[in-house]
Amino acid sequence: MSEKIDVSEIFASDVFDDATMKQRLPKKIYGEFKNSLLEGKDLEPHVAEIIAHEMKEWAIEKGATHFTHWFQPLTGITAEKHDAFINPQSDGSLLLSFSGKELIKGEPDGSSFPSGGIRATCEARGYTAWDCTSPAFVREFPSGASVLCIPTIFCSYNGEALDKKTPLLRSLEAINRQALRIVRLFGDTESTAVTTSVGPEQEYFLVDRDTYNQREDLIFTGRTLFGAPAPKGQELDDHYFGTIKDRVFDYMTELNIELWKLGIKAKTQHNEVAPSQHELAPIYDTTNIATDHNQLVMELMQKVALRHNLVCLLHEKPFDGINGSGKHNNWSMSTNTGRNLLDPGETPHENKQFLLILTAILKAIDDYAPLLRFSAASPGNDHRLGANEAPPAIISVFLGDQLDDVLAQLCETGDATHSISGSSLDTGVSTVPVFSKDATDRNRTSPFAFTGNKFEFRMVGSAQSIADPNIVINTIVAETLSQAADILENADDFDIACHDLIKKWAGAHTRIIFNGDGYSEEWVKEAERRGLPNIRNTVDACAVLSDPAVIELFSRHGVFSSVELAAREEVGYENYSKAINIESRTMIDMAKKQIIPAVIAATTEIAESVAALKAVGADASVQEELLTQMTESLSAISKAVKELEAATDKAVVIGSPKEQAAAYRDTVFARFPAVREPADKLETLIDRDLWPFPTYADLLFNV
Ligand code: ADP
Ligand code: MG
Repeated sequence: MSEKIDVSEIFASDVFDDATMKQRLPKKIYGEFKNSLLEGKDLEPHVAEIIAHEMKEWAIEKGATHFTHWFQPLTGITAEKHDAFINPQSDGSLLLSFSGKELIKGEPDGSSFPSGGIRATCEARGYTAWDCTSPAFVREFPSGASVLCIPTIFCSYNGEALDKKTPLLRSLEAINRQALRIVRLFGDTESTAVTTSVGPEQEYFLVDRDTYNQREDLIFTGRTLFGAPAPKGQELDDHYFGTIKDRVFDYMTELNIELWKLGIKAKTQHNEVAPSQHELAPIYDTTNIATDHNQLVMELMQKVALRHNLVCLLHEKPFDGINGSGKHNNWSMSTNTGRNLLDPGETPHENKQFLLILTAILKAIDDYAPLLRFSAASPGNDHRLGANEAPPAIISVFLGDQLDDVLAQLCETGDATHSISGSSLDTGVSTVPVFSKDATDRNRTSPFAFTGNKFEFRMVGSAQSIADPNIVINTIVAETLSQAADILENADDFDIACHDLIKKWAGAHTRIIFNGDGYSEEWVKEAERRGLPNIRNTVDACAVLSDPAVIELFSRHGVFSSVELAAREEVGYENYSKAINIESRTMIDMAKKQIIPAVIAATTEIAESVAALKAVGADASVQEELLTQMTESLSAISKAVKELEAATDKAVVIGSPKEQAAAYRDTVFARFPAVREPADKLETLIDRDLWPFPTYADLLFNV
């Protein structure tokens, strides 16, 4: 790639964005479209008709032959069904057309998507409907052809959500309603909307494609099920922020170009802690767009990798013994007049609106900690949360010295009178000017950390859609804001009532605040003393969806009905069982067809050597010792595989999704180490050339 990249030229060039609409649509139609967006009203059919026509013309200019409604079913990835623009005429010719109706509504057969029993397979009808708050875009294929993609929601014949976007949009409406009540109470008469914004930092691994192709486990499960540690891991901290290799940089560059074309503001890239691990962060955007964009980021990360003979691993824990990957969900809320409601200002103790919102967030996190924990639960993420690296499975909030101090003053004296301010930092280097530092340091180990003017939820798994965590954050904060508004709207003296409420909530929810080391064993004990839940796996986490308080919460804010929640709980169990089933079958297959035969070949070779040595009266003790070690591990793995097979066969026929998931966790997943440990030991004993697949060293250090 020797051409200069003109970022401003390519940015959003594949998006039918606001600027393109403004430029291409008749002024009146554009105005009507914007109005219906603003007022949340349905589009008039004639407006939809003209938008569809212009969208199609624009897409055809970009090489599109097809359009698709692009949606986000409960698989966690996106779905699409392409339709050509062709429309046969009576004279046998073809017209290329795209109608307003086709833009607004689609009717894919939805029966094969996870629905958690909402629809029987025979009731196949599902609808997709245009989400006009997220712009359409074209996706190019290497041949030069492209497809017009229209972001849509996906629901059943009865209007139940079958996707992640519908409840996300509902949650955005919920928080908008409640946050507007709060800003009105503080005298804001101008803002007409409060939106939340998200900046998701995305971690990933890159491995060489030829090496990857020799590992069945990576191909089928996204993670390694076997593998002894490489001689070197991440102990030298030499990869984090290290110089980016040319091959990786070229990959990142091509990825950035693809993302920029789609209007995704890819901003930061760096090497992460583990070898072969990297991160990409875009500039934050409104939550709906950020969620759509993150799906595209994950998809393009994988696509572009293949062009570089690489494979991008998004799994939360591709390798044992070194860091896994997550996603930091940076979240804030602001008015449409541009005020960030999480900005404490220079003197937070005087900023009553900020303190009210802050304590409402603390209350939300404390009251609904198990729900927030659920929002980051997946079989992949079970390897991180609680496993001494990522934030623990215990939800807590980091506020930092300044806000901690303000809340402490409030609780202790009833009044906060001052705020610790950031001091200046003198580096001792005369040529470096003294600069001011933030009032608060950071804490990397906190699952929910305040970072200046936003909260960073760090539990999210790298492969997950960020829709789930944001649905939960938006809804629980909407709930506590609505409680605050109910009290304050009816108060005789607003100032006193507000002061009292902040003080009450700050005092009642201090247990959720923790500024220490979240990875430490002491914290686990301390959290238990405080009565904070520690939910260690996905199966336990899913159960929160049948908690009456949670059902009540979601229905009060119109985010999920009880039917939708029950469906999602069931899908949670099903997804868990399926993932563990695939892992188990893969493990059994690799053990039986690759590892055991390799060990048999190796032991035969050694046995022959022992016999030959003995025949000439030479010392064969080293060979004999090795042979004993190998045959011991061989019988251990063989026994463990049989047990794993039996347990898997038993679990697969269990009827109740919840019981089945528990069985997969307790009897199948729990048996993995018994297969893996002898296998990994054998890997260290056997001749490199005889080992049937690439090792951790091959995977982690050859890109
Ligand atoms: P780090 O946490 O790695 O130091 P930054 O503070 O630069 O990184 O930001 C991380 C992410 O947070 C980026 O995606 C950034 O755009 C996003 N971000 C910054 N400000 C906000 C905000 N007010 N609301 C939501 N996300 C934000
Ligand atoms: Mg961060």
